[in-house]
Amino acid sequence: MTTTQPKPTTTDAGIPVESDEHSLTVGADGPILLQDHYVIEQMANFNRERVPERQPHAKGGGAFGRFEVTGDVSAYTKAAVFQPGTTTEMVARFSTVAGEHGSPDTWRDPRGFALKFYTSEGNYDMVGNNTPVFFIRDPMKFQHFIRSQKRRADNNLRDHDMQWDFWTLSPESAHQVTYLMGDRGIPRTWRHMNGYSSHTYMWVNSYGEKVWVKYHFITSQGVDYLPQAEADALAGSDGDFHTRDLWAAINRGEHPSWTLKVQIMPFEDAKTYRFNPFDMTKVWPHADYPLLEVGRMTLDHNPTDYHSQIEQLAVEPSNLVPGIGPSPDKMLLGRMFSYPDAHRARIGVNYNQLPVNAPVSPPHNYSTAGRMRYRYATDPVYAPNSKGGPQADVARYGEPAGWHSDGEMVHAAQTLHDDDDDWGQAGTLVREVLDDAARDRLVSNIVGHLLDGVTEPVLKRAYEYWTNVDKDLGQDIEDGVRAGQS
Ligand code: NDP
Repeated sequence: MTTTQPKPTTTDAGIPVESDEHSLTVGADGPILLQDHYVIEQMANFNRERVPERQPHAKGGGAFGRFEVTGDVSAYTKAAVFQPGTTTEMVARFSTVAGEHGSPDTWRDPRGFALKFYTSEGNYDMVGNNTPVFFIRDPMKFQHFIRSQKRRADNNLRDHDMQWDFWTLSPESAHQVTYLMGDRGIPRTWRHMNGYSSHTYMWVNSYGEKVWVKYHFITSQGVDYLPQAEADALAGSDGDFHTRDLWAAINRGEHPSWTLKVQIMPFEDAKTYRFNPFDMTKVWPHADYPLLEVGRMTLDHNPTDYHSQIEQLAVEPSNLVPGIGPSPDKMLLGRMFSYPDAHRARIGVNYNQLPVNAPVSPPHNYSTAGRMRYRYATDPVYAPNSKGGPQADVARYGEPAGWHSDGEMVHAAQTLHDDDDDWGQAGTLVREVLDDAARDRLVSNIVGHLLDGVTEPVLKRAYEYWTNVDKDLGQDIEDGVRAGQS
């Protein structure tokens, strides 16, 4: 019979310790001595276990897996990760948006759908959501939007009055709020939701030809939702319901998968399309731009250390590989700054050296030093140099692949397109996509939300907001709230 001996406990410096249970004292009952470095190290490390939680998307979970290319989109992008036959290791993190780190998984909220692909050309990240649109179209409003979803200054409570105040004063939110208040506002599990890039990106092929692209990760488990009452009950009985579900499914060998499909818009279409295709509050109708299969993402193993692998996972839309570029979507351009900046603030300037964030292709550049750096810098530490330091591979990118832009410097929204209204696509969702039962649940969810602390004149604006989306819907909501008040 073989017995496995536990490894000896050591300090963080690897020095064997004398006791796991007793600090060093003057006599068994005497005062503790400052020279007991191990007990002090334990207390000090404990005090520093938390990094600041994400602001927003604090509560989440994730898993590792692979992305296999099953289609052929090489005519549209030269990105290695999307070439036929390629398989790439990856990690996914799912989250709520407004809730804090310990908040219930089943609160009504969009869900984050953040992916990092460890490609042969460096990390490629997609920071998507389970909805194809967003509440706003300009990063100027993002901070304000998130604050309206979080907590009041005076009593530290979440407040539906401020949520509806912001939404009804921001008509561009109507499409996303319709989505949020419908069934998809509370997915049954993370496995039962789609993921969307929401943003438009640019793809470039090996000839330097450009197209615009939107990503749709369609769940193989089928889309499913939690009714409000069931979600409310779960929020009380199992706040970690979604985290637990993903973990348990993968442990059971039920590996969730999603098929990546893309919509491709010819580059020149963007100028004359009937609405601004880079407006994040709009979808591209499938009839105009059908879905094209790219590949399959499968999550097949759980993290072994949540903090190191999920809490410190740093996904950023600025991680774009050759063959993939940004579009003029203002929200995307804002997030390309704000995400890496958030990682620097939360976990430090050298966050890309942490194992979960490190690329499989070793980085070569001229950054040196900084807090918690452990990748060795080498000379020369400047460029240009004649000492053999790394040099940009200019040929890899070919001709500059971007887009033309000019005009006066203005604080304004683009208004060149005929159909740039805020209500149309939300109305289409209500009238043409939802069946009667789903529409009834939408009304019930909105009425319940409005009855929870929303005051005049915000209520009046809410009736107008929903009437703009759909006249009958607006009336049903007003009737429902008035009935609930009486
Ligand atoms: P389609 O009829 O081709 O597409 C409608 C899509 O709506 C479906 O394919 C499905 O997308 C999604 N859907 C189904 N049930 C629900 C639901 N309960 N809540 C939210 N979405 C649902 O029409 P269009 O492409 O012209 O889009 C019409 C409307 O559908 C849009 O205004 C938008 O609100 C919504 N929609 C459109 C999407 C797009 O990218 N075109 C994506 C998602 C929604 P999926 O297969 O992605 O689940």
